[in-house]
Amino acid sequence: MSLEILDNAIRRIPDFPKKGILFYDITGVLVNPPAFKFCLDKMVELYKDKKIDAVAGIESRGFIFAAPLAEKLGIPLILIRKKGKLPGDTYTCKYDLEYGSAEIEVHKSDLKPGQKILVIDDLIATGGTLAASKKLIEQGGAEVFEFFGVIGLPDLNYEKILEPTKVTTLINYEGE
Ligand code: AMP
Repeated sequence: MSLEILDNAIRRIPDFPKKGILFYDITGVLVNPPAFKFCLDKMVELYKDKKIDAVAGIESRGFIFAAPLAEKLGIPLILIRKKGKLPGDTYTCKYDLEYGSAEIEVHKSDLKPGQKILVIDDLIATGGTLAASKKLIEQGGAEVFEFFGVIGLPDLNYEKILEPTKVTTLINYEGE
């Protein structure tokens, strides 16, 4: 199975959600079982022998890839959610968006000191969301093992803001 199956399943939507943004839509992957299986098989192959204590998924599309991986690896799944959605005691991190700001949260009780956590989102653009998730995880004394995105947009320089933590993606789109 090749990367082509994944590439063909990712829909490109110009000017969504606003003019000038080329939106990479992973719903095309979810309705294509061989493409979805390709992603999950690759993720298991990448992480099955690594010393990872938990997988964290970023709301909302990150959940879709983080949940089956956590189950397959037999390790905990931690949800990183937008502010106000988690009912328990949380750590919070506020970060800047292109316009305005956003806040993400994690349950304090889900993090254990010293834990090495793989953080997963569907797509990595500026890396701002993942950088904020790292701060969140570190508030609980845990650390980020690696960042993973199905799609990467390296033109937006996410590696710089996320360094020295390693970033892995399955497919990159440049100059589009
Ligand atoms: P960032 O914090 O800039 O890395 O943005 C990452 C988040 O925004 C991810 O959760 C993506 O789902 C979403 N996102 C940003 N840019 C795009 C894009 N061009 N296409 C699809 N999703 C995007």
